[in-house]
Amino acid sequence: MQLALRRCQAAGIAFWLRRVAASRAAALSLALLLATAVAALDYATGYELRLAILHLLPIALATWAGGTTAGMSVVGVSSLFWLISFRSTHPYSGEVFFYWEGIVMITVYTTFVLLLTRLRVALSRADQRFFRVLDELHAAVYVADQASGTLLYANRSLARLLAVDPGTLKAGDLAQRFGLPPESSEAPPSGDFVAREVRDTTNGRWYLVQRGPIPWNPARRVSLQVITDISEQKQAQLVHRQHQEILHQTARLAALGEIASTLAHELNQPLTAIANYSGACLRMLQAPRHDRRELVAALQRARAQSLRAGRIIGRVRDFVRSRHPTPTECDINALVCEALELLEARLDDHVIATALTLSQDLPTTRADRTLLLQVVVNLVQNAIDAMADTAPECRRLRLSTARNSDGAIVVSVADQGAGLAEAASEKLYTPFFTTRSTGLGLGLSICRSVIEAHGGRIWHEANADCGSIFRFTLPPETPG
Ligand code: ADP
Repeated sequence: MQLALRRCQAAGIAFWLRRVAASRAAALSLALLLATAVAALDYATGYELRLAILHLLPIALATWAGGTTAGMSVVGVSSLFWLISFRSTHPYSGEVFFYWEGIVMITVYTTFVLLLTRLRVALSRADQRFFRVLDELHAAVYVADQASGTLLYANRSLARLLAVDPGTLKAGDLAQRFGLPPESSEAPPSGDFVAREVRDTTNGRWYLVQRGPIPWNPARRVSLQVITDISEQKQAQLVHRQHQEILHQTARLAALGEIASTLAHELNQPLTAIANYSGACLRMLQAPRHDRRELVAALQRARAQSLRAGRIIGRVRDFVRSRHPTPTECDINALVCEALELLEARLDDHVIATALTLSQDLPTTRADRTLLLQVVVNLVQNAIDAMADTAPECRRLRLSTARNSDGAIVVSVADQGAGLAEAASEKLYTPFFTTRSTGLGLGLSICRSVIEAHGGRIWHEANADCGSIFRFTLPPETPG
């Protein structure tokens, strides 16, 4: 209880001293009073206690409140007091020692005044720099007392933002306008700044509000708020998202054309098989005698082929239906195998030998499976086209999956084609760049958009023997 009382008293005295220091005349009067009191006390104790050092207190007070002139005035008064009274009672054997002590004391006082003045100027310049910087900021800044909500400082941008005189505002009004919790409820324990995006309901604009405690004076808990208008940034993010969506849809449409032609090729096989099996069944039925078991077996095969055709059509239907990117957990090895299955007929037609090397410790990735499938299909189709002029016995396609040093999944498609001319190499991923008479020049640009949208990278390099290698990376799925 007593401790609390003493603390209150100390806080009261400190507060009073600060008020006094703020007023120059009052500080100077108090300093002179204190200097007189020290001189009187010194005289009364017969200079036994050597209290002259206490003169530093009024000198400090006068210097802090009034600057060098005020400080030096008090130095003069204090020194005069000391000289007059101490001269008659000093215990030194000779005058020279007395003057020596006087000179030392005046030098100490003067040095003290000069140092304090420098400190005061440096502090005031630091404050000026701080406020100048805050004033020139585009962001609106204010400092508020956490307990009372009083606005201690507001920069020009805040005045512009609110179109009112910030002097008339309280921190609570601002918190209300930006939908922020009250000052006192959001003081982070670590003293860090907290940031949140808020929307001003009066004008619909978005702001990033950063709030955190800053040192002001020891008796006050003060927080600094920085309000940055991020409406343009938000708008740009929205437009970017819309572009991404359009890009995905365009990628789907372009992919649809490619996949439809591949699947039409695929459909040909089961349809031909169904036609053959049903022809055989008809012939058996038209014959005077037929083996019932053979007939059933042929019908079962025809049924299996029609189910296969149904699955192929189902894939196209799924693809057309899903208009938005639908990220799911993807097994890249399975996806590469599926792409090869889709192109099996084309690879056979072109007499291309395929080598598949799949890494066994491949993590899964989160991706739109159909788009990724299209990327692999595009790269393999390009590889097939590139090997059109290669001798049939040298046509080799190597597909592999692996992990790189960063843990990312790497898929490589290597061919033994003609390779890439340096000039063409730079433009490959540009939309509508093609060297093929029937090409659209969209495949690689779509591949890049798709891979980058999934957080990966696509590039190509020359194959050691001949031809080229196209590689892309995908980030592994992060748990949780
Ligand atoms: P398209 O296949 O319709 O021409 P792409 O964007 O897929 O469009 O390919 C653009 C160009 O890149 C092709 O015309 C071709 O010149 C070149 N290219 C792509 N892949 C390969 C490859 N594996 N080897 C050599 N050239 C390639």
